Amino acid sequence: PRRVVVVGGGLAGHTAAAALRAEGFDGGLTVLGAEPHPPYDRPPLSKELLAGTVDDTTLQADLRADLDVDLRLRCRALRLRAGTVESTEGVHPYDAVILATGSSPIGLGGTSRAVHALRTVADARRLRAALRDGASVAVVGAGWIGNEVATRAAALDRKVTVIDAAPAPLARALPGAVGEQLVPWYAEQGIDLRLNTPVTGLDDHGVSLAGGGRVDADIVVTGIGARPDTGWLRGSGVPLAPDGAVDADATLRTGPGPVYAAGDIVRWPSRLFGGRIRVEHWDHAAASAQTAARNVLGRDEPYDPVPYFWSDQLGHRLQYVGHHDGAERLVLRGHPSDSWTALWVSGRRLRAALAADNPRDVRDARRLIAGRLPLSVEHAADPAVRLTDA
Ligand code: FAD
Repeated sequence: PRRVVVVGGGLAGHTAAAALRAEGFDGGLTVLGAEPHPPYDRPPLSKELLAGTVDDTTLQADLRADLDVDLRLRCRALRLRAGTVESTEGVHPYDAVILATGSSPIGLGGTSRAVHALRTVADARRLRAALRDGASVAVVGAGWIGNEVATRAAALDRKVTVIDAAPAPLARALPGAVGEQLVPWYAEQGIDLRLNTPVTGLDDHGVSLAGGGRVDADIVVTGIGARPDTGWLRGSGVPLAPDGAVDADATLRTGPGPVYAAGDIVRWPSRLFGGRIRVEHWDHAAASAQTAARNVLGRDEPYDPVPYFWSDQLGHRLQYVGHHDGAERLVLRGHPSDSWTALWVSGRRLRAALAADNPRDVRDARRLIAGRLPLSVEHAADPAVRLTDA
């Protein structure tokens, strides 16, 4: 291709542009980003940036200065047509395009100033300022981001309540038997956890609950999940899954024509795990963007990673490796009051692991999953046996 357009100025867009240059592409390269900031990292937004130890998470490698990229900020793609992207700034012709528009938080309605969602650095700075002033915080959603925000707010000595409609934390991502392991952690951080508690409304003074109850709070933070930002692709011919994901093949190519996708928006067929998968992970955003970039240049490489994700929350480090959908058995190894690991197994194959404060299990699990190595469930349940010896 002579001209490549990357749509989305997040981690996947940045990595795709950098990888194209690293692979020797010297044609015209345009990155369209809706935000006013050059690409930055999101994981610290709910961690170090809220804690105040970091203020700027801009990604290294200045696309304009170092990589001769035409980086358009505050520029939103509106439509994709054969050979052109139409944006708020005009028309951008392409020979190949990489879609990397990421995802947006699912809203809960209401326009109260007290209500915060957390996706962008602007969101994070606004929330940090509110946390400085407010005395009490209600977090709606005991998910990854909700728990991280609750942790930082509690560390600032705010009164924190986490509310979730589900019977266990992390219910969108994990089975209840795993999420339940986190329950004691909230009290250890001084956080009040309310499960089985649907929220019916948000306002300037807190949260209304089903059944008529309330949680009064100066600040309300919603963290109930995100959706792929792909509404602008409707009618373009790019195949979209029911949840809005872009359906791609094993090389991350979608269509029509030379159209590729990377990051949070892409759903791809996984040979390792069977079926089509989509994940919202930092690691995947970077790795998929590199594969998409190489394939734009004709490499035709399959994308078949072992997904990896981490989260620092409630005084613990959680690390997840693999993909557990469709696994036959769940085995818990270790003890809830110490370090523990949840293992998802089918037959003698490990499919996924979630480890709490147990980086060695994560490394071992990754080796077993990637190598399709056999595992004895009986041995694996014993925390004294190393997973790679089980
Ligand atoms: P994004 O980073 O969302 O970037 C997409 C960009 O495209 C955005 O800037 C958006 O404004 C722009 N855009 C959208 N639509 C358009 C359009 N039409 N035209 C132009 N531009 C557009 N992952 C982990 O693995 N570990 C963690 O601990 C972790 N913590 C996180 C904490 C927070 C607060 C958040 C929000 C995410 C966290 N993640 C974490 C997830 C990780 O950050 C994402 O998976 C990753 O950012 C996805 O990268 P992306 O480039 O696909 O999308």
